[in-house]
Amino acid sequence: MANPVVSIIQSNLPEKWQEILSDLITDPKELLQILQLDPDTRPYSLAALKQFPLKAPRPYVDRIAKANWDDPLLRQIWPAVEEENNLQGFTSNPLEEDLFNPVPGLLHKYQGRVLLTAAPHCAIHCRYCFRRHFDYQTNSPSRAQWDAAFAYIGSDPGIEEVILSGGDPLAISDRQFSWLLGQLAQIPQLTTVRIHSRLPIVIPQRITTELLRCLAETRLKVVMVVHCNHSQELDRVVTHSFSMLTEHGVKLFNQSVILKDVNNSAQDLIQLSKALFAHDVLPYYLHMPDQVAGTGHFYVKDREARQLMKAMHAALPGYLVPHLVREIPGELGKTRLA
Ligand SMILES: *Cc1c(COP(=O)(O)O)cnc(C)c1O
Ligand code: SF4
Repeated sequence: MANPVVSIIQSNLPEKWQEILSDLITDPKELLQILQLDPDTRPYSLAALKQFPLKAPRPYVDRIAKANWDDPLLRQIWPAVEEENNLQGFTSNPLEEDLFNPVPGLLHKYQGRVLLTAAPHCAIHCRYCFRRHFDYQTNSPSRAQWDAAFAYIGSDPGIEEVILSGGDPLAISDRQFSWLLGQLAQIPQLTTVRIHSRLPIVIPQRITTELLRCLAETRLKVVMVVHCNHSQELDRVVTHSFSMLTEHGVKLFNQSVILKDVNNSAQDLIQLSKALFAHDVLPYYLHMPDQVAGTGHFYVKDREARQLMKAMHAALPGYLVPHLVREIPGELGKTRLA
């Protein structure tokens, strides 16, 4: 029998994932020390760090190989000097999202679905992030301001799906998440909530019993799109979190970004699709990188991306081939390249 006094005390302790979140690696020197890399062999950009600080959860760093500058996970978090390159066509707001921002925290670009920026921050800073210049200050509404977003959704009977994005929507507490889901479930015409999150990959401990309970209990259909770019990101804790989500009725998909020297190899992309499917996750989108300032060193040309798709088609069943897409401002949905 659990001692009731002890369990009350324990319920006031931060969850394990929150402890991990409050102990992120933010100092490049510490990161290099853990990875047994010599800081003198590769400089990093102070300007890049200032614009978008280093943030890396320890369970993610555990999956990076030691003493390898070319590790595909390290490259995703390393503030490289190349971020300072000013490349033509790369801007801070390539998606022109502010044009589709009718109330704080809500983007309405495509018919039938709206996107809510449910959290103003992420558990990791991915250097290729298309939202690295996003104004989260004006897009992280308080509870009262959420009412405007709910009213907007409620007033448009055509909206059937709400996409929780961010930042990372799972960076908020279970209590806040459950409140948000409860509010959405009260909007009668909504059928589906979709969660776009990198947390199941970078801090799989985030998939708590409480979160699973609220996902299982909502009347809404729950879709989760995890953001995994490389099969090396999948370890046993991650795949266990996938199993738990599936067991609680969550439909799992994956979205990757095609990134130079991270996953722009047919072999890696094929391996990723197979590894995900082994744990009941279906590939959804393979995104062309957006032309965001500071991310040019990740850019992959259309021709190369199409060739990679061809190799995937040749090697995989159709259901394991993601859609190669790009976001073009003003289009009615993502634009398919292949
Ligand atoms: C990508 C995106 C969606 C979802 O598009 P799907 O093709 O349904 O995945 C919805 N709203 C916004 C603002 C988006 O950027
Ligand atoms: S988790 Fe997504 S939104 Fe957050 S930094 Fe990474 S790419 Fe950007």
